Amino acid sequence: MFPKFKKNNKSVYLDYAATTPLDKQVQKTMAPFWSDEFGNPSSLYRQGREARKAVESARQSIARLINASPSEIIFTAGGTESVNLAIFGSMKIVKGAPLGQPSHIIVSAIEHPAILSSVQALQNQGAEVTLAEVDNHGFVNVQKLFQAVNLQTGIISIMYANNEIGSIQPIGEIGRRLSQVNKERERQGFSRILFHTDACQAAGALDLNVNKLGVDLMTVNGSKIYGPKQTGFLYVRTGTKLNPLIFGGGQERGLRSGTENVPGIVGLAEAFRLAQKNRAKENGRLAKLRDYFIREILKQIPNVSVNGPEPMLLKGAKSKTGTLSRLPNNINLSFSGIEGESLLLYLDSYGISVSTGSACSSANMEPSHVLQAIGRSQAEIFGSIRLTLGKFTVKKDLDYVLKVLPPVVAELRKITKDV
Ligand SMILES: *Cc1c(COP(=O)(O)O)cnc(C)c1O
Repeated sequence: MFPKFKKNNKSVYLDYAATTPLDKQVQKTMAPFWSDEFGNPSSLYRQGREARKAVESARQSIARLINASPSEIIFTAGGTESVNLAIFGSMKIVKGAPLGQPSHIIVSAIEHPAILSSVQALQNQGAEVTLAEVDNHGFVNVQKLFQAVNLQTGIISIMYANNEIGSIQPIGEIGRRLSQVNKERERQGFSRILFHTDACQAAGALDLNVNKLGVDLMTVNGSKIYGPKQTGFLYVRTGTKLNPLIFGGGQERGLRSGTENVPGIVGLAEAFRLAQKNRAKENGRLAKLRDYFIREILKQIPNVSVNGPEPMLLKGAKSKTGTLSRLPNNINLSFSGIEGESLLLYLDSYGISVSTGSACSSANMEPSHVLQAIGRSQAEIFGSIRLTLGKFTVKKDLDYVLKVLPPVVAELRKITKDV
């Protein structure tokens, strides 16, 4: 029997990695720019000047938080666009290009579809693409990554934190090694290899100091940090040659034409400020909730496995927020003998929102490329769900899920066995 609860509109949202609600304070900061302060930042009269001031102050605030200068921040319409600008803007595929001309791209095998589809498109144009492999916990093999570098390599793109299993990549280490490689290349007269990181999932939890990370390009979006959707920025290190994808009035240093999304930009900056301000405290709180939940699930449900890094989990050890290896809000579990999709739908009927693998692929039944890359079996992949916690998640929510999930899993396993 499936558990019976009064469904008095109970709602537990556990899909913060898919998107986050707009923060009330962010909404308030944005509000005037929808109406009274509606000016076009390019206009020279008062309303325009006010809008320009807001955009530039947002740029400054973001730059300061990532240890960059304001001119290095390009506002875009989200993570996907920033990623496309980083990849297509830096790589122009010239067939039969001479040695040293960039035509080779290295990305990790577990990148977001924004990256994977972009490099696939370039591959169709003749680029060579290396998918750097990850280990069973979802960490890139840095040694192998650098073995893949050749004279034609133009860009390396490695996500900071994974959206499905939360593994956090050693971006700083890769950046340092790459700078050694680049020194040698420049000495020999070859072009530098650019380094991009997709930090969409990291912006609310990790340090985004671009100099510590050693990146030339970095993508951040608003929709994962309680900011407005369709907002984001691309950090572009001074001296990095980039071609625009969108042509027009020459806004954003000619890299992203079109009238600026002033409320969006203001909201993005405020969301990013809050995310970075609160991350240390939030990380500790969320990691505790996450570890509690996983421990309980493993205690209460047989034949469950955790996908992704599991160092501090289950051993009772405290996670050190300084050296995180897994996003504190990420839980990814495989339940043997059932389908994650059915589990998702049953949980939804109890007001609990989770996802299977990645939200972007739940519309089709493609097995998650991330879970494949970390060596999970087809059955484990189809039996997987992802729960991602966030600002409004409290222990009471998880206790409700802990009441619902075990009997639902048991019932689904019974049904599956019967057919
Ligand atoms: C959500 C996400 C994106 C895409 O960002 P949009 O703002 O939805 O375009 C890219 N990369 C990662 C890691 C993401 O989580």
